Amino acid sequence: MPPSSIDRDTTMPTLHNLGFPRIGQGRELKFALEHYWAGQSDRATLEHTGRQLRHTHWQQQAALDFVPVGDFAWYDQVLTLSATLDVIPERHRQGDTDLDTLFRVARGRDQQAACCHAASEMTKWFDTNYHFLVPEFEPDQRFRLAWRQIIDGTAEAKAAGFNPKPVILGPLSYLWLGKFSQGDSADKLDLLPRLLPVYRQLLAALKDAGATWVQIDEPILALDLPAPWQAAFEPSYHQIQVQGLNTLLASYFGPLQDNLGTAIQLPVAGLHIDAVRGASEITRVVDRLSAHKVLSVGIVDGRNIWRADLDAALATLKPLHAKLGERLWLAPSCSLLHLPYDVERETTLPADVKPWLAFAQQKLDELTLLRDALLSPGHADIQARLADARAIQTARRDSPRVHNPALRKRLAALKDSDALRATPFSEREPLQQQRWQLPLLPTTTIGSFPQTPEIRKARAAYKRGQLNKHDYNSLMRAEIKRAIVIQEQLGLDVLVHGEAERNDMVEYFGEQLDGYVFSAHGWVQSYGSRCVKPPIIVGDISRPHPMTVEWATYAQSLSDKPVKGMLTGPITLLCWSFVRDDQPREHTAQQLALAIRDEVQDLEAAGIGIIQIDEPALREGLPLRNSDWPTYLAWAAHAFRLASSGVGDSTQIHTHMCYSEFNDIIEAISALDADVITIETSRSNMELLAAFEHFAYPNQIGPGVYDIHSPNLPSQAWVESLIEKATARIPRQRLWVNPDCGLKTRTWDETRAALAIMVNATKALRQKW
Ligand code: GLN
Ligand code: ZN
Repeated sequence: MPPSSIDRDTTMPTLHNLGFPRIGQGRELKFALEHYWAGQSDRATLEHTGRQLRHTHWQQQAALDFVPVGDFAWYDQVLTLSATLDVIPERHRQGDTDLDTLFRVARGRDQQAACCHAASEMTKWFDTNYHFLVPEFEPDQRFRLAWRQIIDGTAEAKAAGFNPKPVILGPLSYLWLGKFSQGDSADKLDLLPRLLPVYRQLLAALKDAGATWVQIDEPILALDLPAPWQAAFEPSYHQIQVQGLNTLLASYFGPLQDNLGTAIQLPVAGLHIDAVRGASEITRVVDRLSAHKVLSVGIVDGRNIWRADLDAALATLKPLHAKLGERLWLAPSCSLLHLPYDVERETTLPADVKPWLAFAQQKLDELTLLRDALLSPGHADIQARLADARAIQTARRDSPRVHNPALRKRLAALKDSDALRATPFSEREPLQQQRWQLPLLPTTTIGSFPQTPEIRKARAAYKRGQLNKHDYNSLMRAEIKRAIVIQEQLGLDVLVHGEAERNDMVEYFGEQLDGYVFSAHGWVQSYGSRCVKPPIIVGDISRPHPMTVEWATYAQSLSDKPVKGMLTGPITLLCWSFVRDDQPREHTAQQLALAIRDEVQDLEAAGIGIIQIDEPALREGLPLRNSDWPTYLAWAAHAFRLASSGVGDSTQIHTHMCYSEFNDIIEAISALDADVITIETSRSNMELLAAFEHFAYPNQIGPGVYDIHSPNLPSQAWVESLIEKATARIPRQRLWVNPDCGLKTRTWDETRAALAIMVNATKALRQKW
């Protein structure tokens, strides 16, 4: 049902939303896409699902004064915009742009599997866990209005009786996020003069489709911008103005800081600010806002799942409302894309915790209540609802689930030396060599072995209660045994147990730690059809019992070679969970670190003398502003060391990270003081090691020598050449040989064959040297 015509008080703040989740409450879009890609359904079926989802989502937002359009995407909203502007890499073009074009760009193939050119690069959307498709530009890039999805969506919402507000990424952010396909050094700003007329054309078309307001997102306003980029804003926004269409310029994910002046002066009808992360600058913005402009205040947190403190929000909003009247708009801080749909659907959350949480639907309810409270503060019903909200805040604050006095005591008693190994690496290294007697270029793997359909089936049956614990354990033990036998046959030097028992490297630990809860339906889109269900950290973290010791000691009992213990590090546990908003992230990281420290010490006591603590998310946790990096990196490295330093000198700590950029964080990597770091390098041709070389990184390194993402086998000569390249940068005594990452997505045949090549290449080089 379309929104009823609200009788508007003149000082009534407008309610709107920056974007809604798109994947569907039951992940309908995910399944529709995957069926379509697999050739099990046709395009009409997929389009039908998309239309249904859009209408359902508008319906769910019907209490708002506008519904967002353009937040729906078949794969990714940046890709939708690229198609709109005709930024389709030449290799993926086949006639006019259609849905299959989008999928070719995103996946390297379409439904007919016609094609097979490299997909466009995917990268993280600011500091979220969402990934977008990086636009690829040519130096002579032309733009053209080539795909009408957003325009048609606007008309579609209008026809259905909603008040549409199209949402598009702004021209500066769009260019900033793209790259030249040839890695060109050309300036992306040179493309602006050709880009802006097409934006203008798009805006005009949106107006013709029935929009009176358009939301243009410029999230790069929360970043450190070079002066030419700042300067490009004002002239650009002059150029894209369309008579009769109002622009709301949206910034989010952080304060504007030095971009505040740029944002406030733009020739637009309104400005949206992130009043959660940018709370400190609201007053400055209001003071400088010109008298005709709307201010949209992103007052509820669009990035986290906690119910808002409505009293605090009202205290912020009241003076704004008094000053701005109907020029005050209320919204979540950012798009709700990064949240699950509806906490009411959750049936397995602890009853006391559920009321503390707000998913997308509840965020909108909070906005409505805030508006009503501004308008009729004395209304009994509103008072009652505010009192309920207050009671929830109090219950959460005082809950024993949140506070663990023993842990607090332990934290308070921590000494600096707890986060330092007893001796420096230079002294540990010979002791470790003496203990482990490893050959030159020791070979190992990153942790996981193939998660076969049998393993997944067994786990699902165990979770459903159809398989008892004893039988499940026996099956997992059999998998571990198989992995150990194969590794011994292959002749690897340091073995792993294979992680058969783990569904996910964060969930596995979260489920065993106190302080975590899990939703059943809390899916959030990661990219395309892929979703994650982040665990929720509700309270102080502690480890009631060992989490991995039994599996590790069982694996070790099967071999005379060392078997690595395998843990997820505190920063990765933090970054891949929804975290508490009642204490700094740094404190939560410390608590997680202590839990992992306990596990490390228990592993050591059980005879596991090589322990890997994975931190693939260390880089992801970097703040958006460079000035905030040192603080983050310092507490992140401290948390890692707190987790890893409680062991003897001859116990060897490994860590693992997979990404392609170490230059700017090499100091922090070094500060982890892991005895061995394994990294993903094969696709960079060992270029990545330059950072370690230039920094004279002192500890041992295992650069990945083959790409585990591809089913193709590397040749032995290729692996040898990569190892030789590595020795040009790192002394060979400090090198390890391993794949890029874990092998859980590969088959056993692929794994066995590739590792055999890796081991043979290593042996050939040992002989030569
Ligand atoms: N130990 C993990 C594995 O091998 C590491 C995964 C990761 O780096 N993301 O699967
Ligand atoms: Zn990895």
